[in-house]
Amino acid sequence: MNHELMDKTYVLNTYTRNYVNFKQGINATLFDENGKDYIDFTSGIGVVSVGHGNKRLADAISDQARNLIHTSNLYFIEPQAKLAKKIHELVGFDVATFFANSGAEANEGAIKLARKYGEKKFKNKKYKVLTLEHSFHGRTITTVKATGQDNFHKSYFSPYPEGFSYSKTLNELYTDIDDATVAVMLELVQGEGGVKAFEKEEIQKLAKFLKEKEILLIVDEVQSGVFRSGEFLASTLYEIEPDIITLAKGLAGGVPIGAVITKHKDILEAGDHGSTFGGNFLSTRAGLETLDILESYKQSGMLDEALLYFEQKLKSIFKAFPALFESVEGLGLMRGLRCKDGDILGKAIAKAFENGVLVLKAGKNTLRFLPPLTISKEEMDEGFRRLENAFKTIVL
Ligand SMILES: *Cc1c(COP(=O)(O)O)cnc(C)c1O
Repeated sequence: MNHELMDKTYVLNTYTRNYVNFKQGINATLFDENGKDYIDFTSGIGVVSVGHGNKRLADAISDQARNLIHTSNLYFIEPQAKLAKKIHELVGFDVATFFANSGAEANEGAIKLARKYGEKKFKNKKYKVLTLEHSFHGRTITTVKATGQDNFHKSYFSPYPEGFSYSKTLNELYTDIDDATVAVMLELVQGEGGVKAFEKEEIQKLAKFLKEKEILLIVDEVQSGVFRSGEFLASTLYEIEPDIITLAKGLAGGVPIGAVITKHKDILEAGDHGSTFGGNFLSTRAGLETLDILESYKQSGMLDEALLYFEQKLKSIFKAFPALFESVEGLGLMRGLRCKDGDILGKAIAKAFENGVLVLKAGKNTLRFLPPLTISKEEMDEGFRRLENAFKTIVL
């Protein structure tokens, strides 16, 4: 039975897949079953932060797996406590963490925390969570409702939970807030929505306003977090201290994990929230090793160098193809090239693949780049050289 038939017969068809069969990865390079290599500018959608086949991470995971993978949250989990302590250090203000298994789950936890805050803190319960258009917060029934993109709100999944609404812009948030609003949830750089980074001043102004109103600011850093912006949190770059921050994608280098990080430590109590898998030995040990690797990579100056080099490369390819692209978007290693239209985007992704480069789509017309943070200069050179060849063959 060929791979495609097997997949289509036995796996539910929720994805449009490419049937390349990857067998191995080394940092930002992937190899398929025929030995063909691909430069990976996707890192599994921002997940493989320390690169493919990372030896330190693999050794930590294998060591942990040989000893203990899971015991449950009924007992102390040393790597969980150590990872939470490490997160506390890296965040730079006083927070505690709840561990989940994914970004959507982390956002669910954040929403639950906000709802209970709204109950405890005010005479008349506040419960509404405002999000932004073009946001993406996950695929569970609640987080898909929180996602500000109509095409995700399929009528056949209804009814959806109440208490969510979307503002068109940051400015509209101010007037959309009412007496029942408990939280604003946003991404500092909208990932899936088109790699759109908000202005620092606008975010700081909003954060200050929300603080005065005692409305929680939830920053979804599932994609922007874990050094992707150049800092541990994009919130650090924006110089804000959100009430709640969620992480997931890059936190454990590819092992499923999610985190709800908050300075409101006394809202959730025993029994309020939980997870069978969340924060188990395997995922938190992987998280700890991933953060150790990335922290020293940052301290050595290599992360900042990689960020700069990638930006130069991206800007020069942007300049070389004025017929295809209209802007460079994003920050750090969370980047986009806004295409003139969706047709160009489709062609760019297909041609890149033919030439051995993996890239992503975001929104309707943005070519998205989320390389491993440890990508080497040689891999960047080779990837952009291949992209140049690929883009030359696009016929408009
Ligand atoms: C990917 C993503 C999510 C969802 O994460 P999952 O692990 O797929 O549930 C939520 N928010 C943002 C900003 C994301 O990029």
